[in-house]
Order: sequence, then structure tokens, then C-alpha cells
Amino acid sequence: MQISAEARTLVAFINPATGENFGQIAAATPAEAQAAVRELRAAFPAWSGRTIAQRVAVLREVQRELLDACDEITAVISQDTGKPRQDALLEVLVTVDFLNEACRHAAHWLRRERVASGLYIFKQFFVERRPYGVALVIAPWNYPFALCLPPLFEALLAGNTVVLKPSEVTAATGALIERLLARVPALAPFVRVVHGGGAVGAALVAAPPDFIFLTGSTATGKVVMRAAAEQLTPMTAELGGKDAMIVLADADVAAAAEWGAWGSFFNAGQTCMAVERVYVADSIYEPFVAQAVAAASAQRLGHSAALDAPYQIGPLTYQQQLDTVERHVADAVAQGARVLTGGKHNGLFYEPTVMVDVTHAMLIMQAETFGPIMPIMRFADEAEAVRLANDSAFGLSASVWSRDHAHAEAVARQLQTGSVIINDTIAHFGVPQMPFGGQKDSGFGRTHGRDGLRQFTQPFALAVGAPPQALDVATLLRRPGHYALASALMHLVFGVTPEQRLKPVVAAARQAADKAKRVDLRRVALSAGAAGLAAALAFAFIARRSRRRP
Ligand code: NAD
Repeated sequence: MQISAEARTLVAFINPATGENFGQIAAATPAEAQAAVRELRAAFPAWSGRTIAQRVAVLREVQRELLDACDEITAVISQDTGKPRQDALLEVLVTVDFLNEACRHAAHWLRRERVASGLYIFKQFFVERRPYGVALVIAPWNYPFALCLPPLFEALLAGNTVVLKPSEVTAATGALIERLLARVPALAPFVRVVHGGGAVGAALVAAPPDFIFLTGSTATGKVVMRAAAEQLTPMTAELGGKDAMIVLADADVAAAAEWGAWGSFFNAGQTCMAVERVYVADSIYEPFVAQAVAAASAQRLGHSAALDAPYQIGPLTYQQQLDTVERHVADAVAQGARVLTGGKHNGLFYEPTVMVDVTHAMLIMQAETFGPIMPIMRFADEAEAVRLANDSAFGLSASVWSRDHAHAEAVARQLQTGSVIINDTIAHFGVPQMPFGGQKDSGFGRTHGRDGLRQFTQPFALAVGAPPQALDVATLLRRPGHYALASALMHLVFGVTPEQRLKPVVAAARQAADKAKRVDLRRVALSAGAAGLAAALAFAFIARRSRRRP
């Protein structure tokens, strides 16, 4: 269907550091979005019919293109978000590392597995991983490259075709991804990039696809989940965060202050797992705050297109983000919080900010701020630190600082989050085999590693064997007249004490003996034989099961 240029919404490319409008792209219409899902569904049999090795070969071509285009990619990401080229390069590095690892392990992680045969001694049982069909990947703007491509690669490796909807806020990176993927003709029929905002995303969800992988805010997660429920479309939701950092009394204070500040300010604080709340033990509170203020003051704000720029922090990515940050800081200050450094902005460049005297009544400690703000609270004991960290609607990630790893791990295990990193911040997201995701309002499901790949598949159970054999105990139990045998077998196999295991056998033997007094030798022989058979089969079964136990 042809749509006139006027009927389309145009999405502008804006550099938030300079305000420069450097291009635009036409958003898809809802009809085009839905047609994309239909076309990718038609392409699904051809892609899912390939072996994993064949899919890996195509994705290795993508890997080669990404490396060749590295400088082109960082230029666009930096222009689109204002972040330094080196930070843009980290997005490419994480993406390539992830792709490389997924290609290496896909065949192993998706292999067919044999499971124990239960009562069916003469059959074999397998679990295979089947792709869903068309996977829809909906992405945010804060890491417009590294949050689009890894789930897209996972979905493809698992055998799905993919529709990707990048964020409208960073549409230039979305357009770049479309160009990069088009450079691998072998992949082109099996992936489509559809541009536009929430309305286009909603049209794609309604299409419907066969699986949805959403990375975005909790509010969008709820809207998408409601819409997905209409079609019972399964989904993964990687949503917002309000990550806590706990600095225990035995922590390396200088390292905690330096890398905690990095976790708060990296990417101008626009990281789902940024350090958004800091809890520090009373005994080290004063030196920690002083060193955090020093770390914040040392950060340089600015933007340059050069490969090596002297800046650590770029601008917030768009006005809405600045509005949120200002609202949260103003709310905290109105309730008695103090800004020790920062708190001001120049255009979209917001100064790295350290705040104290904050409480959980303030937005800055409750809602996702997504800005370069480090609010710090003190705690008297570890129980209080854990209680404060868990006193949040979110449950994405957290960090714990201590020189004693066992001590830190003990605290980490009490935190209601999908992951915890000890003596560092954010870094574990970049480890390809670590499953990443949250709980509570941070969503559900995991990306990365084996779990991330497998989420794009559903288990297919396959039972293989000859027709039921007369002597197979499972066959015998289907036929009437074997109550005693079934009961004896069940007790023998599943009894939890020797007495419970042998109870029906003993009862059958007693019954046989009683009947023997009435001299019906034929029936005695039959009962004893049934009990003996049950015992023999059960012991064979038990022996077989214990051999299989890992
Ligand atoms: P957002 O929720 O505004 O948008 C995310 C995506 O959803 C965009 O592509 C948007 O166009 C699309 N969308 C919006 N409404 C839709 C609808 N009704 N149907 C379908 N799609 C729709 O989020 P954002 O502002 O782009 O990203 C920031 C948020 O993402 C933050 O909350 C951040 O914490 C979260 N995030 C989470 C993770 C994680 O791994 N958990 C990673 C990065 C970002």
C-alpha cells in the first residue's frame, strides 16, 4: 500500500548536545507495521528451517560488518545521544562480545536434551527448543545500540524472524542499525526495522507477533503487557530500576566513592542499573561523602565528535529527561535534602550531583530519576541497610561494598533484585554469559547467556519408541485388573522408608498365605508371582533411575 509523504509522521534526528537537527526518518504507519509482522511470519519457515550452524554463519557476517563499521557506528551514536565516542564504543564492544559468545554457544545451549524415561523403560524422551515465530524487539533510547541488537541476535539465533522497533528518541541509531543489517543480504529477508514511537509499537504488539521482548519503562511495560494479554502473546519485560549501593563498614571507602560515583554518573545517569540510591555505614559516612563529592567535581561535562574527547559526561538525551531530573531534585530539596555539589544545568548538560539528608519520602529515593544524581543516606546496622535497599518498588540490580567477599555475599543474598555486583557497579551487564533482568516493577525474564537465548524458544517435548510392549510395566498398568500390582509398584518406587516401600508386598504375601490355608494353590501362586514381579520391576526401575541421577 502506498502512503503519501504528508500522511507519515517524520521522526527528527536531534543532537542533544548541540540541538542540531541532522536528519529525519518517516515513521511506519500502523498498517505498514502490521504488514511487517505478516511478512516476517511468512519468512519464518525458511529461517527456522536452517541449522544453528547456518544461522551462526549469517550472524558472523553481521559481526564482521559491525567491526568494520565501528567508527561509523560510534559517530552516529554520539551524534544521536551526545555521549562521548568512547562510551559509544563501549556499546559496540558489549554488542560484539555478546554476539561472539552467543554464536560460540548457541548450538550447545539449544541442543536437544534427553530426559529420564520415568516408568516407560522402553521409550526415550527428548526436549527440543523451538523458536516462537516472529519476535518483536522494542528498545529504549539510553543505549540505543546495545539494547537493540543483543536481543535481536538472541531471537535470530534461536530461529525466530525479528521485527525491531528502536526508540523514536534515538531514531538516527535505529536508521543506522537498519543500514548495517541490510549489508548482510543473507539476513535481509528475516529481519525488519520498523521506525516510530509508541503508536507504532502498539500497532506491532497488536499485529500480533509470537513473542515480545520489551526494554523500557515500567509504565510502558504495563501497557504492552495488557495489550499482549489480548492475544496471549508471551513476553519478556526489562523495565526500570532504582538500584541501591550498600557500603559496609569494612569497605574500601576510596574505591566505593570513586566507582559508586561512576555508577551514578556514567551515561549521564541514564542507565537502568545506575546507582540511584547510596546507603553508607555510619562509621565511614563522612569520608565516603567527602570522596564522592570530590569524584563528582572531577567529572568533565561536554561534547565532542573526536574519538578521544576529554569529557566523561554528555547531555541528558532529551528535554523530558531534564524535566524529570529537575522535578526529583526540587522535591528532595523542598523536603530538606542538601545538594553538596551539582544541581544545575546548562541546556541538557546536568551537573554531576551529590545529595545528602535524603529520605524515602522523597521522589529521588523512590522513582526512577535517570540522571546524574547520587543521593546518599547513612545506616546504623546491616539489617537497616538491607531494609532500606529493599524498600523500593523496583528490583533490578544492586551493589555491595566490603573487603570481605563472604560478608558482602551474605548481604547480597538478602536483596530483592535480579543481580548484585560486589565491589563494583554496572559492570556485570557487559558480561555476555550473565543473565540480566529484574523482579518487582523492574520486570521479569532474563537477557544474555543461556537463559537469554532460550527465552526466545519454547520447549518441545518428543517421546520416541516402539508401540507399547506387553511386558513393559507401564503397559501392564494401562490394562484393568492390576490394582495390587500398581499399588505395590508405587510404594516400592516412591516409599520414603523401607517399611513404606515393602508394605503392599508384605500385605500381598500375608493375603496369599491366608488363602493358602484354603488350599487354592493356583491363586496363591498368582498373587505371590504378581508381588514378585512388582518387586523385580520396581528394583529394576529404581536401579535405572539412580543410574541416571546426576
Ligand atoms: P519507554 O517505555 O518510554 O519506551 C521504550 C520503548 O517502548 C520505545 O521504543 C517506545 O517507542 C516503545 N513504546 C512506548 N509505548 C508503547 C506502546 N504502547 N506499545 C509498544 N511500544 C511502546 O522507555 P524509554 O524512556 O525509551 O527508556 C527508558 C526506560 O527503559 C527506563 O525506565 C529504563 O530503566 C528502562 N531500561 C531498562 C533496561 C533493563 O534492562 N531493565 C535497560 C535499559 C533501559
